[in-house]
Formats: sequence, C-alpha cells, structure tokens
Amino acid sequence: MEFRDLKEQYRRNQEKIDQAMQEVVLDSNFISGRQVAELEEMLAGYTGVKHCIACANGTDALQLALMVWNIGAGDAVFVPDFTFFSTAEVVSLLGATPVFVDIDRRTFNMSAESLEAAIQKVQEEGKLQAKVIIAVDLFGQPADYDQIRPIAEKYGCRLLEDSAQGFGGNIRGKMDCSFGDIATTSFFPAKPLGCYGDGGAVFTDCDEWAELLRSYRVHGKGSDKYDNVRIGLNSRLDTIQAAILRVKFEVFQKYELEEVNRFAGEYTKRLENAVVTPTVLPEYTSSWAQYSILCKNADERAQIQAALQAEQIPSMIYYRKPMHEQGAFRGQKDTCPVELNVTEEICRQVLSLPMHPYMDIVDIDRITDIIKGTVK
Ligand SMILES: *Cc1c(COP(=O)(O)O)cnc(C)c1O
Repeated sequence: MEFRDLKEQYRRNQEKIDQAMQEVVLDSNFISGRQVAELEEMLAGYTGVKHCIACANGTDALQLALMVWNIGAGDAVFVPDFTFFSTAEVVSLLGATPVFVDIDRRTFNMSAESLEAAIQKVQEEGKLQAKVIIAVDLFGQPADYDQIRPIAEKYGCRLLEDSAQGFGGNIRGKMDCSFGDIATTSFFPAKPLGCYGDGGAVFTDCDEWAELLRSYRVHGKGSDKYDNVRIGLNSRLDTIQAAILRVKFEVFQKYELEEVNRFAGEYTKRLENAVVTPTVLPEYTSSWAQYSILCKNADERAQIQAALQAEQIPSMIYYRKPMHEQGAFRGQKDTCPVELNVTEEICRQVLSLPMHPYMDIVDIDRITDIIKGTVK
C-alpha cells in the first residue's frame, strides 16, 4: 500500500500527462512557456484571486511574499508552532523573527487566542514590530480565518496564508489561497495538487504586489530579465511542471477532491470510537493533504505504527517536533512569548494514515481494523 499513491494517479492519466510533457519537449520552451501563463490563469480563476504568480516551490513562494512586504530585522512574524519548517524558515532567512503560536487541538491550526496573546506580548516587550501573521491551512483545512482576519486587522498585521497543504479547501465556498492578503501554495508531489518535482505559486488581489512578485521571481527584473531594478531570486515554475499540473488540475477538480473527502468520511465513520478523529469546522471543507488521528499517547501511537507496519501499511508522523524545539530555533527566547502546550502534546499523539484519491475501501477496512484491534 502507498501512503499517497502517485503511481496509480499517473497510470489513470498516463496518456494525457505523457502528451503534455512531450509537447513541452518538442517545443523546447522549457522556461516561461505558454503553459505557465495558462496554468496561472486557471488557478486564479479557480481560487477567485486576481493574480496567480507561479514560482519554483512553496518555500520560495513564502519568501517572495515577505520580500514584497519588506520584512526583515526587527519584525515579528507570527507562525504556528505546528507546521512544516518552511513556514518559519523563510522568516529567519530574511532576518526577521518568527514568533511561535499554539494551535487548536481540534483542527491542528493556529489558535486565535494564542495568536492574540503572542501579539500582545510582543507589543508589551517593545523589541519587535508585529508585522505579519502566517496562518497555515494544515492538513488541507483552511485556518480559522473567521477569527484570525479580525485579529490581523485589529493589530495592523498583514495576513499571509500558507496554503501549501490547503489547495482545494474552502470556507462557505470561498477557496483556499483567497484568505490571505497574499497566499502561497506548493506543488510538491505529495501535496493536494502536486507536480513531478518542485513547484509553487503566490496569489494576491493587489496589482502592485503582483507586479513586484513577477519581478522578484526573475532576478528583480525591470522591463526585462537583463534590466535588474532590485535584488530578487531565480524562482520560476518549469514549463514541463506547468504542463503536468494542467492535466492534474483537471482531474483534481473532476473527482480527486471529492474522493479524498469521501475516504476521510469512511475513515472517521470506522475510527471515531477508537481514537480522536480529525475535526473539520462547520462550513469548512478540507482538501485532506493528510488524514491525521490523535492517539492517547506516544506509546499507543508506536503500537499502532508497528501493527500497521507489520501489514506493510505506511503511516507518518507530521510533525514529531514543535517548531520551537527544532535545533535551528531552540533557545531563541524572542520566538516563544506564549505557552505552546497543545503543540507539545499533539506532537506526541498525532499520526497520519494513508490518504489519496485512489484508495480502496477494502484498504480503509484493513487499516481501521488494525487500529481498532490495537487500541482496545
Ligand atoms: C510543503 C510545505 C511548504 C513548502 O513547500 P515546498 O514546495 O516543499 O517548498 C511550506 N509550508 C507548508 C505548511 C508545507 O506543508
């Protein structure tokens, strides 16, 4: 069994994907080919955001957004303590300080109360300027924008939506990648919409920021690539990846998103009396980048993993370590003004199960039977 079955996805769509890749090779328009602009237009339409700017990966996408806002030394950027490293990494890379915020136990997403407490602590301390909130749409579910957006406005912070895992999710029909002042996503192969290598995109309604993003992604270009008006990056999406994504985006909309939601429902139906199953808030829809349960403790989790492993069923721990305990951040006092207890506890309990649009209900039966047999 695969944790995320990209091989089956390819088999089902092989003809179209092969054709799309071949077209790029025959045209040999490998950089900034027409497929890139076409993809950008499709994704902007789907998310309902005015501009989509494709780039090399989801980490660069975050960095590009912070560059547009001139984030650097002396700035505080609020980041959930429970996320992939990139979310905080780019903050430090630009010389700013990531300030870690605890999460909501039910959704794994940033806690609005903890966020407000962290902003107030930073303001009281007076060393850093509260500038940006990075909300992460973790495991596919939009962050709690109903609560986070008002806090961003109250404290004059910009809202950056890290939707690397959230593409396709929505709140009352409003799509992920449309909640931040700027939003980013990743096309890393295992993300909800993945390509065949690295890829990413930035979304914004603001014309001025969109123009800056297009400049920063190609060496700070002015009128062309050889007119350089600012310091930027080399961060384009390859034409071949855009071509693959166009095909995959079609099936993503056609049935993949629906299928992962169906399988999540089947998991929950079978597991809800055995372990803590994931909560999706009312009127929120997840794109199920991960289906993650909570075990009683680290011992029970290890037993479940071993029992699954014995049947060749993969499971993963996202994430084993709170961000503030990562070696790169450990001991940096400014990054931890508030308690991060929920994250610490969840890191010992969380376990992600195989989840993708090509699962078989028989596999879900097997997985859930093993889990139920282990916890009883
Ligand atoms: C994957 C991921 C990223 C980074 O995306 P890459 O394309 O791998 O650079 C950033 N944030 C989160 C939450 C992610 O899951």
